[in-house]
Amino acid sequence: MSKSWRPATQLVHGGTTRSQHGETAEAIFLTQGFVYDTSAAAEARFKGETDGFIYARYGSPTNDMFEKRMCMLEGAEDARATASGMAAVTAAILCQLKAGDHIVAARALFGSCRWVVETLAPKYGIECTLIDGRDLANWEGAIQKNTKVFFLESPTNPTLEVIDIAGVAKLANQIGAKVVVDNVFATPLFQKPLELGAHIVVYSATKHIDGQGRCLGGVVLSDKKWIDENLHDYFRHTGPAMSPFNAWTLLKGIETLPLRVKQQTENASRIADFLADQKQIARVIYPGRKDHPQADIIAKQMTGGSTLVCFEMKGGKEAAFALQDALDVVKISNNLGDAKSLITHPATTTHKNLTDEARTELGMSDGTVRFSAGIEDSDDLLEDFAHALSKVKA
Ligand SMILES: *Cc1c(COP(=O)(O)O)cnc(C)c1O
Repeated sequence: MSKSWRPATQLVHGGTTRSQHGETAEAIFLTQGFVYDTSAAAEARFKGETDGFIYARYGSPTNDMFEKRMCMLEGAEDARATASGMAAVTAAILCQLKAGDHIVAARALFGSCRWVVETLAPKYGIECTLIDGRDLANWEGAIQKNTKVFFLESPTNPTLEVIDIAGVAKLANQIGAKVVVDNVFATPLFQKPLELGAHIVVYSATKHIDGQGRCLGGVVLSDKKWIDENLHDYFRHTGPAMSPFNAWTLLKGIETLPLRVKQQTENASRIADFLADQKQIARVIYPGRKDHPQADIIAKQMTGGSTLVCFEMKGGKEAAFALQDALDVVKISNNLGDAKSLITHPATTTHKNLTDEARTELGMSDGTVRFSAGIEDSDDLLEDFAHALSKVKA
């Protein structure tokens, strides 16, 4: 396996191991356990003296291929595949903390991620301070003697704000804290948090990695030492393991990740530019546009725009609903990263549990809409939006 392969090659060949049959496609090993030739062989395996699998909750061959392929792409030493993105986030955060520790998190988080740090962690005596992560001074100001983890998502959901990952990592290193980055929105192709100084990267593989709306999955990636000392035992004994069937689905999905993300980004970019000129729309936020409020940080840490576009309808919720309901190719769904173009009204779906005040803090209004570009022909998407907007009063 060559470390110097470019991403498109890594994602087709990385991590593949073949059985005695020499199959072309990766095999699915749907097995709970493994057998040993002798009692002594079992003993040696359990002692860690020989390599090999023990029990599927700990690890298994198809999952191992997925983990290795993700490591290669991310430039990480080790990884654990989890049943969902939330299992990955929860494991990455809780495995390294204990009562009395403190988390600083950017408050613009995926809803369930925010619940884990804001509501779940405090039940176990882990404090959390939520800040506006765009300003590095806020990270520095929130540091306490017991701060152990910085947690962020960039670009954020749904308003596509970005956070200076290298800046946050520098602050964390000064106090020996770990930076956990939820890199779903950027995709592993457009942003490399570990290269920017972050310590742990998490994904919901449900999104672009599957990319075809089939199964849930997640992955935690880091250096071997961190995984051995923090995640290894937590993962074995709390059981967030991914199903081998899903690992196989994701291995096949990830082969086409670069093709899909390229098309999605081209489509998103074209739709963003189109929407920016429409009279019914107050503003468009798109990381690939020069008018993004943090275009300088994007230029520093991302190599591509985004497969998502956030925009605000002048006519608020009524106009947002009218637009969504008039779309035909674009489907109404709270998912993202899919081959199918999807659209959602965050205030009434993904972010409905936040107070009005919390939504305002995140820069959201009743007119905010999030569009996830699929891989359709962009002419069809453009015509769909043009037609739908003609049904919306300016
Ligand atoms: C979807 C998502 C998650 C959760 O992933 P699941 O696979 O749905 O559990 C976490 N973070 C971000 C940014 C997401 O988009």
